[in-house]
Amino acid sequence: MSETIEEQFQAAGVVIDGLHKSYGPVEVLKGIDLEVAPGQVVCLIGPSGSGKSTLLRCVNLLEQPNGGSIDVGGYDVTDPDIDVDAMRRNVGMVFQQFNLFPHLTVLENCTVAQQKVLKRKKPDADRIAEKNLAKVGLGEFGDRYPDQLSGGQQQRVAIARALSMDPKLMLFDEPTSALDPETVGEVLSIMRNLAKDGMTMLVVTHEMAFARDVADRVVFMDDGVVVESGPAAQVIGDPQTPRMQDFLKRVL
Ligand code: ADP
Ligand code: MG
Repeated sequence: MSETIEEQFQAAGVVIDGLHKSYGPVEVLKGIDLEVAPGQVVCLIGPSGSGKSTLLRCVNLLEQPNGGSIDVGGYDVTDPDIDVDAMRRNVGMVFQQFNLFPHLTVLENCTVAQQKVLKRKKPDADRIAEKNLAKVGLGEFGDRYPDQLSGGQQQRVAIARALSMDPKLMLFDEPTSALDPETVGEVLSIMRNLAKDGMTMLVVTHEMAFARDVADRVVFMDDGVVVESGPAAQVIGDPQTPRMQDFLKRVL
């Protein structure tokens, strides 16, 4: 029953093939192909409104795709017969807004889903939460409440909470965009460590230095299509399309 973190951890890859998503008559994703190999980090960049969040939300079925397929760790999540809850349990998501429960302590924020969804006993859930809080440098903060923490610390709790569910894939949607500049670095550093540990990560970010240093591949989206993708040095260092060149001028 109570496996160690090491035993539980297993990276899952993602293969997205011809993904379409519309809201009413508006087509937001127009046939996206994107792959994240197990243990790799892919950074997804692009202007506001290009469909990045929608893409992430399709991967863990917060949105239902209209066409194409998404394979996570060997399972087609668009298969109507899939166990959505079981699939979602394997996919951790970290949002721009941390979405912590304000009335729960830091530790409780990291244990509530473990107990409710994974049916872990409280001592097991506490132990796993404490281990992940230590991993994000907040081992001493379990008894605090979210409003007693900085934005960067709250986002680190959100990461520890996601990790406590033993995800095989982590999705990050602009995890540092709501932070004060001085706390951005501490969150990126946790994400770097996760990448080093071999976590499969799909990261929407405007942090080009992070993308350049950490990403195995960078995917640039605009207006619902992938415009450029490849190694960071190529996509960021030597952009081929006017759209990517314009985007870089604005964010760098
Ligand atoms: P990004 O994350 O790249 O800024 P989004 O995926 O949030 O882009 O949005 C892409 C487009 O889809 C935008 O034009 C946005 O207005 C539209 N959109 C997103 N969510 C919804 C929704 N729930 N209903 C209708 N339109 C939406
Ligand atoms: Mg977005």
